[in-house]
Amino acid sequence: MKKKFQRTCIGCKKTSDKSNLIRIVKTPDRNIKIDVDKKLPGRGAYICPNPNCIELAFKNRLLDKVFKDEVLKPNKRDFFESIKEKFWERNILIQNKQK
Ligand SMILES: [Zn+2]
Repeated sequence: MKKKFQRTCIGCKKTSDKSNLIRIVKTPDRNIKIDVDKKLPGRGAYICPNPNCIELAFKNRLLDKVFKDEVLKPNKRDFFESIKEKFWERNILIQNKQK
């Protein structure tokens, strides 16, 4: 197994394959965006699509820390909902396609 695309989750600090993690980027106006296609420019961080990791990231201000800036955090609930929507459903689609 290649280790090339391993990234660390900012929440639980576990390394995982890049494809299992969500990339989040900070936009120039200091907003946080979920980078579904992993193609947005800018500084990125990775997080598991896991409610616990997202909870940790919000609670411990981990987003500020990784981006070394005070970012305008999205509403936690909205953020999580869009992760569910964009990432989980998409991944299910990809997995079905590969079968
Ligand atoms: Zn995690």
